[in-house]
Amino acid sequence: MSTGPGDPHIHVDERVLQTGAAYRNLVVATVGSAPDAPTVVTTGCGLRVPYAMTSRRPETVTCLPCREHAEREHRTFAEHVERLDRLSGGPLAAGPATSAARWARDLATRFARR
Ligand SMILES: [Zn+2]
Repeated sequence: MSTGPGDPHIHVDERVLQTGAAYRNLVVATVGSAPDAPTVVTTGCGLRVPYAMTSRRPETVTCLPCREHAEREHRTFAEHVERLDRLSGGPLAAGPATSAARWARDLATRFARR
């Protein structure tokens, strides 16, 4: 897989959470199928890059605005999931929501490290 010219950075997908493993698992658990990975994505810093130039591993992402974006997104997500969990008592009520929130917080912390 070749990388684009002139942009050596690894970014995050703007919708970093919606393509994340925990989100996919939640979607699969809810609707029974996983969303397809796109070929070109909008990054957290507003660029359009090949999906291959993005990563969800905090240690791999070299674009600072993207790291900040991802950190913020994950913290918001963790709070959102926990709120949903308390409100719904529905399909998110059991383990998945708790582990998704923990996963998101862990990633936020790793994105914040620099
Ligand atoms: Zn970026």
